[in-house]
Amino acid sequence: MRRKLTVGAITLAVTGAGLYSAGLPAASSDIINTLEPTADEQTSVVEVHVADRDELDELIATGVDLDHQVHALEDGLEVHAVVTPSEAEALEAMGFETGEVVFSSADMDSALEEREATIAAHIAENEEFAAQAYDQTNPDVSDVKIVRADYYTTQTGTQVLSVEAKWAQGQTSSQQLTVERDSGPGTDMGSGGTQNISRFVDAGVYLYHRGASSVSTRPEYIRITSPTGDVAVAKVNDWLPIEGDDEFKGDVYEEDFITSYLTPTELYDRIHQLAAEFPDLAEIVELPQKTNGYRRHAQALLDQSSRLVVDPPSAAAGEYGFAGPAGYGPGIPQAGLAGSFALVNDGSALPAEGCDPLVGFPTGSIALVDRGTCPFVQKTQNAQAAGAAAVVIVNNVPGAPFSPGGSASGITIPTVMISQDDGSVIKSNLPATGTLLPASSNASRVGVDSVAWGHEGGNDLTIASVNPGVPDSPLSVDVDGNDITVNLGTDSSGALVSTAAEVVAAINSDAAASGLVFAYTYRGSTGNGVVPATSRQNLSDFLSAPDTVSRDPHSVYALRIGKHRDGSKPGVLAYAQEHAREWVPPLVAIESAERLLRNYAHHGQTKQLLNNLDIWIAPSINPDGGHYSFYDDNGQRRNMTRHCSVTGSYDLNARDNWGVDNNRNYTEYSLFDGYSGASTSCTSDVFAGPSELSEPENKNLEWLASRPNIKFSMNLHSSGNYFMWSPGSYATPGRISAPRPTLAEESFFWGASSRILTAIKRHRGLSVTPARTGPISDVLYSAAGNSGDMLWYKYGIYAWNFEVGTSFQPNWTEAHDETMEFSNGLVELMRVARSFDTDNTRPESQIVVTESSTAGMVNLKFDTTEPAAVFYTLDGSTPTLSSTLYASAGIREAGELLTVPEGTTVHWFSVDAAGNVEQNYEPDGKGKNFRKGIAALSD
Ligand SMILES: [Zn+2]
Repeated sequence: MRRKLTVGAITLAVTGAGLYSAGLPAASSDIINTLEPTADEQTSVVEVHVADRDELDELIATGVDLDHQVHALEDGLEVHAVVTPSEAEALEAMGFETGEVVFSSADMDSALEEREATIAAHIAENEEFAAQAYDQTNPDVSDVKIVRADYYTTQTGTQVLSVEAKWAQGQTSSQQLTVERDSGPGTDMGSGGTQNISRFVDAGVYLYHRGASSVSTRPEYIRITSPTGDVAVAKVNDWLPIEGDDEFKGDVYEEDFITSYLTPTELYDRIHQLAAEFPDLAEIVELPQKTNGYRRHAQALLDQSSRLVVDPPSAAAGEYGFAGPAGYGPGIPQAGLAGSFALVNDGSALPAEGCDPLVGFPTGSIALVDRGTCPFVQKTQNAQAAGAAAVVIVNNVPGAPFSPGGSASGITIPTVMISQDDGSVIKSNLPATGTLLPASSNASRVGVDSVAWGHEGGNDLTIASVNPGVPDSPLSVDVDGNDITVNLGTDSSGALVSTAAEVVAAINSDAAASGLVFAYTYRGSTGNGVVPATSRQNLSDFLSAPDTVSRDPHSVYALRIGKHRDGSKPGVLAYAQEHAREWVPPLVAIESAERLLRNYAHHGQTKQLLNNLDIWIAPSINPDGGHYSFYDDNGQRRNMTRHCSVTGSYDLNARDNWGVDNNRNYTEYSLFDGYSGASTSCTSDVFAGPSELSEPENKNLEWLASRPNIKFSMNLHSSGNYFMWSPGSYATPGRISAPRPTLAEESFFWGASSRILTAIKRHRGLSVTPARTGPISDVLYSAAGNSGDMLWYKYGIYAWNFEVGTSFQPNWTEAHDETMEFSNGLVELMRVARSFDTDNTRPESQIVVTESSTAGMVNLKFDTTEPAAVFYTLDGSTPTLSSTLYASAGIREAGELLTVPEGTTVHWFSVDAAGNVEQNYEPDGKGKNFRKGIAALSD
């Protein structure tokens, strides 16, 4: 039997079981008289196998309640009986062979409830639309579609409506879309005002329009009329509504254990203490790879910065820094520019500003000119006209000098700037002679690295390049203990002549010097510039952490939490500080660990989590970078490893720009696979490394991910208050995404996410917004080779990413709040894992058929009661796990709308994320109780 129920435009096609034949399941029959059903027994629909028509007649003669479905089998007939358990037993006692339970009473009750709710909702919507006379165009022909309409409140109580919509012309037209709002149930469309939403285009590809706006009342419906006049209407959804108290936490729940930022050393100390305090519940696991270590070779550069030298006997004798050359005119010649310094006089009220033609200026001198009143170019032009060899601008405000700006042609002398303080010293000690010396050119620089690590002797070395002060002196290298001296060569006039390449060769070929250091020219230069004399300097590894931070390759630790840490329980992995400068995420990891351990003894639900899960918490994946960010460069994102070649950014000037972005060095959809969002440059903040998994940090995380029982993970980052999952990367051009999760997987991600984000919001009302929730590549950017993608695609782990808070190192009050709220979210992930593990509720589904704009066709979609995959056939064949998988309509959309000929036979079943199959169907092609329907509208 097949019956169609028509509700407005919706047709529910249902089959089998007589579910709707009499409004209620049929009462059991008392004609089966060997047993009376007990009063509270409920009926089920059970398959009964009979050999032939005669046996079927005998079955009918018992008076059992049969529905009208009779299937011919190879060995007889199959019918469905609506019976209580007692009646089923009686049938068996009478020799009838019963089979699978097709529908239980619980199935019936929930299906009925669902049906009634669907009917009520559609009637209400239809009445509402009719009352408001909306022009609602058929959704399969309208060129605009509303994807999300979410209402939420911010921490400060502001009401916000976030809207996402797709417009068919969005790729080619830059127009905004205007969203009209009503002002609550039953109000006129437009009465709540309007807001505009803008295109979201990434990598040249239009994704959707999006935008959020504050509203004064919560709208019930919104409407978008596209520029072509097509219309879409949608009901507004509540994003993260918080109803009542958090039933998870109670009076006995302890939290708030973190009082300051923690360095990686302190993080590891903390989890060691926890493992020692709770030996029955936790243990420390040292991951297989040690890092390359918080250590570097000591370095120096033989070069000099630009400087102005004043000769004795002037009281100003000495060296002064300058900025420049200016944006116009030539630079200082490499050999320097010598002369007398002379303060200019232009005969005006401010004579030293040189804005008018100079008076009495000594030709060939270096002009000292005060900054102020007129352009730098004008000052230089006046000095040049008076015969100056160069111009030194004296700043007129305190602070560092800067390169004078401007542009002009015809300027042949260099211009630089010195500070106000330095200028006043020189001006008040004239007459004076001296020299302007430029910074070393790249061609004249020599870099040296210690052979030993800095902390193992490299930092004790010194080096100087010396002018011997006599003509025709050869280049030589002396080593005295830790002190290296380069005696520069001179020509017959006594001028320095040793080039950088010659100095490099001299150091590297000297047995004693090359035992201490390795020398190189600067960033691939041929080294044909003359090396200047430099004062003696220490080589340094420039590492500032106290000795309590180990310089050795560092162990990386995880805390494993659970009563049964043998791999028998579902695993959850949380890991933080892939990115060194992100200081709050490790605290979320620690706070969550302490909540789990310190509440176990007295908080029942926490005890359930630890008794049934295998939780791995790795608070710092990248301890070397982490230490560097605390003690040396708080902007450090990557690990500390220098992969730059000796002809590249190898020298000390690049020391804050080395390292591999650990979140770009993994194996799936990586830079090396052609995906976007990572760099081959060794100084890029998204450097992917020399090859996949080149870094010990990454090998460690892969080891964690490959624990076979790990099912869920959270990659803790900051900042931005994002909550994301795969895919995390795409290839350009064309924005070819890594494979998208199935509709069921995506639904599960969204469903679990709403639980986790609601837990976060409970702390202080922070709403992670809909626009910042979803696949990484949909809401943020492509991040080729990120860890989440490896965990999801390679290991099948439901892998999420937090982007905690609003900055990398916020003030402590803010950091503390972020720690508390995202720990709520991380603990909720543990609860999601537990729910998943205990989920044995079968999903239910139905088909929904609507009119198509094409004659003879109808639109078909599947609804499920929980996130579930739907496998279907349209040719009457038996659905299996190889059948077509029902997909989403597009990025951030619900299920697709299939257009099929009216009357198409639809067979299907659904499977939830935990593997429960609808109706206990065996999807091996032999089972019978898959769902059946006809894609048909009402008559
Ligand atoms: Zn990060």
